Amino acid sequence: MGRHAEWRKLAKKQRRKRIRTLQATERDKFFSTEWYIKQQEIEEQLLLEQINKQNEEENAKWIEAEKIAIAQWKRLQEEKQRAIQLRAEQEAKMRLEWELEQERKKKEEERIKAAEEEQKRKHKMFMDHLDKFLSGDSVEPPPELKVVRETRPEAENCPFFTKTSCCRFGDQCSRNHQYPGISRVLLATNFYTHFGLSNADVSEYDTDIMLEYEDSETYKEYKEFFYDVLSEFEKFGRIVQFKVCNNYEKHLRGNTYVEFAELRCAVAAYRALHTRWYGGRQLSLQFCNITSWSNAICGLQLRRRCPKGRACNFLHVFRNPNNLYNHNQNYDPEREKERSSRSSVRSWRWSESPEREPLKRVSSRRDESSERRHRRTRYRDREDDDYDDDDDDRYYRRTSSRRSSHRR
Ligand SMILES: [Zn+2]
Ligand SMILES: [Zn+2]
Repeated sequence: MGRHAEWRKLAKKQRRKRIRTLQATERDKFFSTEWYIKQQEIEEQLLLEQINKQNEEENAKWIEAEKIAIAQWKRLQEEKQRAIQLRAEQEAKMRLEWELEQERKKKEEERIKAAEEEQKRKHKMFMDHLDKFLSGDSVEPPPELKVVRETRPEAENCPFFTKTSCCRFGDQCSRNHQYPGISRVLLATNFYTHFGLSNADVSEYDTDIMLEYEDSETYKEYKEFFYDVLSEFEKFGRIVQFKVCNNYEKHLRGNTYVEFAELRCAVAAYRALHTRWYGGRQLSLQFCNITSWSNAICGLQLRRRCPKGRACNFLHVFRNPNNLYNHNQNYDPEREKERSSRSSVRSWRWSESPEREPLKRVSSRRDESSERRHRRTRYRDREDDDYDDDDDDRYYRRTSSRRSSHRR
């Protein structure tokens, strides 16, 4: 074979090889593009899946959050509802309580009103009985007036009340207090007032010191009160005891005891003076039983040795001017009657006394105009040294002939 043929053969071979290579390259090229595309697709798919997955998760989260939100909202609504219901219930309860309270108040008011009415009715009846007794001429009071009122009949008698007719516990006391219907002794509670009595800084009101300084303002004030009040009460009859307390204890402070010789006179005084006004204060009188003045009055006070001092539950009393009623003896009406009937010499002294002319004594109070000029002159005009002796009887002799009307 020639050279040319060999070259041609080689050329052809090379050409075929070139074609093959080209074809292979083309094929490779084709294949790589496809792979790439496939890869792209896979990637895209993956991405899509990723996105979908993310979306699903987001969605799930959102749904979950929504569920929670809904649950919370529901709970909130329920709570609100409960709160509203609770408030409504509370309001209803409060309204009910208020209504019950109103009802209770109304009932209490009615009860108090009824009690007051009953009290008024009883007081009126009592006053009517007093009037009947005063207008009649029987010496003995009607049985209705003798009725004793007891606070705790089942309990023991209160020793303080029994002796002094006063008790720091009032009618709340666990012991029994016995009030007489009527009696010869009148008690005006807390009647005398003076700064010294109510002032805690002023030490025990020392009546003995007061006596030493008879000119002192304090004593003058008491003297004025004494004569003022005594003259007012004397218009109703003979007084046999007159005591004013200077205790600091509230239930005894300024208490004024007036004992009449005659029951009828005490009743007349009560009828006229109870709830009257003196120096801007309303007089509150009550009948009381003092069976023994020496038991009622603190014995140690007289000797200035009372250990209880201001807290004493027995009467610490002022020394009265002119030594009037400064004794503690008890007055015995029966003995007095015997004495006056025995002694004709003394009977002139009581010619105007209620024992003999009870009606005249009481009715004379009505004859005010003719007697007004004597008013308040008895004690004011005279000098104290007119009364230089200690005998109360002599005092009566001087004063019983002069009567003055009582103030209205
Ligand atoms: Zn008591
Ligand atoms: Zn005492």
